[in-house]
Amino acid sequence: MLPQRSPDPYTTIEVADPLETLRVRISLWLLPLGALAALAAWGLSVTADKLSLPDKYLLLPIATGFLALEVYLWRNPQSIRWVWQVALSLIAVYEIVSLYYEAAYKLHQRDGITPAVLWFPMVFLMAFNLLNRRQALRFSLTYLGLGLLAGGIGLLASPSLNATSINTALQFTLSNIAYLSLLYMFAFLRRHYAQMHQLAHTDALTNLTNRRAMQLKLDNELERARRYNRPFALVLADIDHFKKVNDTYGHSVGDQVLREVAGRLAQHLRDSDSLARWGGEEFLILAPETDLHQAQLLARRLLEAIGESPISGVPVTLSLGVACYRQGDTVAAMLSRADEAMYRAKAGGRNQVVLEEQLEDVIIPAHTTLEP
Ligand code: GH3
Ligand code: MG
Ligand code: MG
Repeated sequence: MLPQRSPDPYTTIEVADPLETLRVRISLWLLPLGALAALAAWGLSVTADKLSLPDKYLLLPIATGFLALEVYLWRNPQSIRWVWQVALSLIAVYEIVSLYYEAAYKLHQRDGITPAVLWFPMVFLMAFNLLNRRQALRFSLTYLGLGLLAGGIGLLASPSLNATSINTALQFTLSNIAYLSLLYMFAFLRRHYAQMHQLAHTDALTNLTNRRAMQLKLDNELERARRYNRPFALVLADIDHFKKVNDTYGHSVGDQVLREVAGRLAQHLRDSDSLARWGGEEFLILAPETDLHQAQLLARRLLEAIGESPISGVPVTLSLGVACYRQGDTVAAMLSRADEAMYRAKAGGRNQVVLEEQLEDVIIPAHTTLEP
């Protein structure tokens, strides 16, 4: 909520992951599926009497490992990343070993490839789902490189090479490069989407939440207030005689004042409050779990914070209007009451807080001291 001024405001987006719960739920399905696949591969190979060496030694431990991870994840959903890392490593090791064995002993004998290798690109998907874009690319390239190296050494060790086996190896290599490139492109799109989302919801001058994003927050808060019968308050703050600031000091000083007012307001709010640039020199504060009396104190605190010292050398005052949620309210009705209160603050001489009508018609002059 505080205006951020890091050189790249998007750096944390890939890390702050809203998909974590979804990832846990999907993993709870995928792990038994992986165990089933490993058990089926083992059972059917035994039935066909075609159990390869890696399958003989690796499939059952993998199936057991997946089931153990399932139980562990079920009990410790917060360990989801660790569980994915272990699962990823298990599959990666199995795939690389299988590639070597396939290339060295089996490929020249058949028209096709071992079903085990169908799972090879799965590791890319897991890596891009788990790690950030660069880490995932590095991991996937290392994995593909090791896989191709193991396969290449296997091919060199194989008794003969025919056109079919070379074609299989070539298709495997090229298709996996294609999968990896496409995944990398999707990772870019995901980041691009996050950047666009951020831009669409942020005011460019102050870095605050913009009007569009605030509208969504207001709708959500109203829904919450309705459902749980909880209070919340809106405080509309308009800079007094801002046109004069521009006229006297110039537009760029005006811009700087807007930025600093935004920063000062943000400093005096709770993390749970939301602050938005609502219009040119108008700010809107959404304060959840706040009744009219608490909102009055909050508005008063903001009034004092802005008025206590000049901003960029300019003395600045605010007029603030306060409205609180009432049963059956709408966002538009609340905004209109806050707006109307703010206009009464203007009419009453500015530099003051005015509460919405009906409950009380209270005007608090700037010099009045309120209990903390
Ligand atoms: P009042 O006390 O009645 O609110 O008077 P005011 O001058 O603040 O209000 P008015 O609505 O007449 O003027 C608002 C001014 O805010 C006019 C506009 O140029 C200025 N403004 C709006 N957005 C920006 C901005 O992004 N940068 C700058 N520098 N000025 C802006
Ligand atoms: Mg104004
Ligand atoms: Mg205005």
